[in-house]
Amino acid sequence: MLLFLDVDGTLLPFGGPGPYPEYDGPLADASALHPLLTRVDPALGPRLAGLGCELVWATTWMDEANTSLAPWLGLPPLPSVDWPDDDELRAERLHWKTAPLTAWAAGRPFVWVDDEMGDTDRAWVAAHHPGRALLHHVDHRTGLTDTDFGVLRRWISGAG
Ligand SMILES: [Mg+2]
Repeated sequence: MLLFLDVDGTLLPFGGPGPYPEYDGPLADASALHPLLTRVDPALGPRLAGLGCELVWATTWMDEANTSLAPWLGLPPLPSVDWPDDDELRAERLHWKTAPLTAWAAGRPFVWVDDEMGDTDRAWVAAHHPGRALLHHVDHRTGLTDTDFGVLRRWISGAG
């Protein structure tokens, strides 16, 4: 079982205890990382590892996910989905991650946690992916919550 991990809005909440004055888009340099990392609950790492899935980054953080976020979360370096530069699928109103991530899974069952995907993506995956898949939407204001983890655990255990 794969678990594709978004970062912004999923591990890194955009709301919650305070505003995010430091956040102004994709990260450009390491000096910008620290104030963002401290917005991520490090306890999420063990909780994610405890789900028993193969964790895979599905984020624009790319290499920085492993150089910054993984150590912060106490996780080993994880594989990462590469994103093709391809606008073709945007016409279908799919999230730009949906097709590459599904291709990466190559038929293996997967969970995807993200604050941006929706029913169009669920329908597309159902039509194009032979294995089981859970596309779990996360509220970007809170990131992953206890409720989310409950949903994931139930689905993963039911998936065998
Ligand atoms: Mg996101």
